[in-house]
Amino acid sequence: MGDVLILAEVKESGLEKSTFELITLAKQLAKELEGKALSIVLGKDPTEAGQELRRFALDSVYKVQDPALEGFVPEVWLNTLEQVIKELRPQVFLMTHSPVARDILPRLGLRLNSTVTMDCVEVKVDPSDKRLLRKKPIYGGNAMAVLKCKGTPEIVSLRKNSYPMAQADGQVSELKELTLKITKDLVTQVLETKKRDIVELDKAEVIISGGRGLAEKEEFSQLEQLAAVLEKKGIKAMVGCSRPIVDKGWMSSDRQVGLTGTMVAPNVYIAIGISGAIQHLVGMVRSKKIIAINTDAGCNMFKVADYGLTEDYKEILPLLIKKLEETL
Ligand SMILES: Cc1cc2nc3c(=O)[nH]c(=O)nc-3n(C[C@H](O)[C@H](O)[C@H](O)COP(=O)(O)OP(=O)(O)OC[C@H]3O[C@@H](n4cnc5c(N)ncnc54)[C@H](O)[C@@H]3O)c2cc1C
Repeated sequence: MGDVLILAEVKESGLEKSTFELITLAKQLAKELEGKALSIVLGKDPTEAGQELRRFALDSVYKVQDPALEGFVPEVWLNTLEQVIKELRPQVFLMTHSPVARDILPRLGLRLNSTVTMDCVEVKVDPSDKRLLRKKPIYGGNAMAVLKCKGTPEIVSLRKNSYPMAQADGQVSELKELTLKITKDLVTQVLETKKRDIVELDKAEVIISGGRGLAEKEEFSQLEQLAAVLEKKGIKAMVGCSRPIVDKGWMSSDRQVGLTGTMVAPNVYIAIGISGAIQHLVGMVRSKKIIAINTDAGCNMFKVADYGLTEDYKEILPLLIKKLEETL
């Protein structure tokens, strides 16, 4: 019997969307391991986030509350998580593959004398020995590795948008407080938190992405126009791109979709002038509907697309914008 513990990450606006994906995975694994699905939330006062977590029918929701846990101070969080894991003794500890995970998980693995697999896209249980099978992209996304590792807890960070978000199902779990010895870090002190204006592509319902098939930077204004039409109709639409567009300096890196960009799964993904290289596909293939516009009928993007137009985008985009303006 092995329990599965997740760390719920919190933003000013509430729980991170990726936490709901972790819940889906934690419940699946806990069922297979015949254990419990548990969550922990840390902070100065994480009660609100803890209350929200209670709605997801986890077996237990824990919080650790201390002024020293305000913001993210790596050493303090590391010490705290080490104590949490020693106290709850889960078989599996899961985090989103976030900057927090990248900072602390390798050190946590070392302290707990266990193994860590970062950036997984799928995690299953091997029925023969009840150990995890951790799937992750390797060689720049050209191959997938499935790893089975020694050590307990089994520590994994999960790439965003790899699992569907859990839905609150009306069953309420208990919120328990863990009382631990929280040490203040004498080396690092957060003086000020500055908000960076970044585009959060994974929040969009529709993503309109442009690739190297777009001849000029200015051509992206048509994609913006299309997004604006959808926005006007109340649909959250954003413009994304493939990596060469970022490399050319036409767009900022937060707009890049793919292996080294953002993983997305919007309701609709429109790929314009994007060939469908594996490193791009892994970032958007879970989109609910994929529409591709490409002059090359043999391109990879058409293999994953639900709808495809073998046309020059210059012909199609003005018509599409006009049609949507008239009909939506
Ligand atoms: C380690 C590593 C990580 C990477 N990470 C990423 C990543 O995160 N994201 C990413 O996107 N890439 C990534 N790449 C790069 C990736 O391998 C491809 O090179 C890239 O995705 C290709 O971008 P593209 O499809 O825009 O360009 P191309 O492959 O050049 O495709 C352009 C497409 O436009 C079409 N086209 C041309 N003219 C028109 C027209 N007028 N109308 C319609 N279609 C037209 C062409 O038929 C073609 O299919 C990575 C590569 C490596 C090695």
